[in-house]
Amino acid sequence: MRHIAIVGSGPAGYYTAEAAAKKWGEDVRVDVFDRMPVPYGLIRTGVAPDHQSIKGVSRRYEKTALSDNVRFVGNVAIGTDVSVGELQQLYDAVILATGAPNDRRLGLPGEELANIFGSAAFVGWYNGHPQFAGLDPDLSGRDVVVIGMGNVALDVARILSKTRSEFEGADIVTHALDALDASKVETITIVGRRGPHQIMMTPKELGELLHLERASPMVEPGDLPPVADDALLEPGLRKSVTLLRDFANIPPSIHGETPVTIEFDFFASPVGFEGIDGKVTALEVERTRVEAGRAVGTGETYSIPADLVVTCIGYRSSPLAGVPFDERAGRFANDQGRILPGLYCVGWARRGPTGTIGTNRPDGFSIVDLVEEDIGSGTRKQGREGFDALVETRGLDVVTFRDWQKIEEAEEAAARDGAPREKFVDVASMIAARGD
Ligand code: NAP
Repeated sequence: MRHIAIVGSGPAGYYTAEAAAKKWGEDVRVDVFDRMPVPYGLIRTGVAPDHQSIKGVSRRYEKTALSDNVRFVGNVAIGTDVSVGELQQLYDAVILATGAPNDRRLGLPGEELANIFGSAAFVGWYNGHPQFAGLDPDLSGRDVVVIGMGNVALDVARILSKTRSEFEGADIVTHALDALDASKVETITIVGRRGPHQIMMTPKELGELLHLERASPMVEPGDLPPVADDALLEPGLRKSVTLLRDFANIPPSIHGETPVTIEFDFFASPVGFEGIDGKVTALEVERTRVEAGRAVGTGETYSIPADLVVTCIGYRSSPLAGVPFDERAGRFANDQGRILPGLYCVGWARRGPTGTIGTNRPDGFSIVDLVEEDIGSGTRKQGREGFDALVETRGLDVVTFRDWQKIEEAEEAAARDGAPREKFVDVASMIAARGD
C-alpha cells in the first residue's frame, strides 16, 4: 500500500490524485487536503464566473474524488493545523499542489494607495473567495487601469465591462454583481510594458471583447508593427495580433455608441502611482521601446488617470515552514517536482503561474511517475489512519466530500434564476451548510 498526501484540491491536486488512482489502483490511498471547506481551488475562485464551460472540468475531479481510494480532507490548513513535517511522517509522499494564490507586487511608489488591488484579490472578490469577499472596491470613478497583458487582465477588463444581463448563467457572487451594476466605469486602460507582438492574451479570450453589449476595444493603429512582421509569430499569437488589428479598425463612431471603452496602451512601463487623500488617481508610466524582446525605457513619462487599478502581473506561491522556497521565482525550490525526499510539488507550485488548466494534467501524471521511482511499492507509514488519530488529538473539524456535496446542494438551491449556484463567501456559512 502507498499512502499519498496531496495538499491543495485545485486542478493540479485532482489531476495528481487521478494519476495516482490510475497508476496504483487498489494499492494506493490518496488524501487530498484543502484549507477551504470546499474543493477545486482556482476552478471555483479563479476561473471567470462567465466562463462556466471551463468550470465544467470540476465534474472530472468529482469522479476522482468519489473513487474509493481517494478522500477529500477539507478545512485543514497544512502549515497551520498540521505541519508538512507531520504529513511526511504519515505519508509515503507529500505532494504540494498549493498553486500560486498571492499577488506579485510591482514594488513601485504609491502602490499602497487605496483602490489599487492585485488580481488575486480582485478576482477573488467577484468570485466569492472568503479571503477577498470583503474587498469592496470603489467602482464610482470613470477610469480604471488594468496592468498586464495576459488572460487575467482580459478577465478583469471584461468583467468590469459587462451588463447585468450579460452575467446570466454566470456564478458571479451577488455582492459583486450589484456593485458592478452600479459602476460608473467608462474607460478601462490595459497597460502593457511591451508591444502587440509580446502580449500573453489568447485569441478566444481577446475575441470576447468584440461581443460586449456596452463596451468596445480600442487600439492605436500606430502601435501596431507592419503586418508583414506577423508572419514570424506562432499561430496563436498571430491570431491574437490579428484581433488587435481588428480593434484598431473599429471606427470612432462605434466607440461613441458604447459607454465603456477598453483601450490598449502598449509600450508603457509603470513607474509609480499618484493619489489624493490616500486614494489612487493616476498611474505614472514610462514610454518604452522593445529591443530584442525586452522593454527599454525612453525616459519619457506620462500619467494615465486611474480611479481604480488592478495589477494582473502574475502570482506567487505561499511558502510553508520547512519547505525550501525559491524567493525570486515565488515558488517551491524543486528539481522537476522533487523538493526533498518524500516531498514534491506540482502545478503552479512547481512551475509558477503559467499554462492552462489542462497543462496540470500531464504535470500530475509525471509527478506520480517520479513518486513511483522514489518509493517503489511504498514504505510502512500509517497513512490516513495516522492522520485520523491526529485529527482526534488536535480537535480538527474536517469537512468531507459528502459534506461538500451538501454545501454544493445548498449553493445550487440559493442560485439566482439561470445561475448555477450562489456561493457562500465565508467559511462559517460553508461549514454551517453541511448540516449535522
Ligand atoms: P501572464 O499571462 O503571465 O501575463 C502577465 C502580464 O503581466 C504580462 O503581460 C507581463 O508582461 C505583465 N507584467 C509582469 N510583470 C510586470 C511589471 N513589473 N510591469 C508591467 N507588466 C508586467 O499572467 P496572467 O494573466 O496572470 O495569467 C496566468 C496564467 O493563467 C496564464 O498562463 C494564463 O494564460 C492563464 N489564464 C488563462 C485563462 C483562460 O484560458 N481563459 C484565464 C486567466 C488566466 P511581460 O510579458 O512584459 O512580462
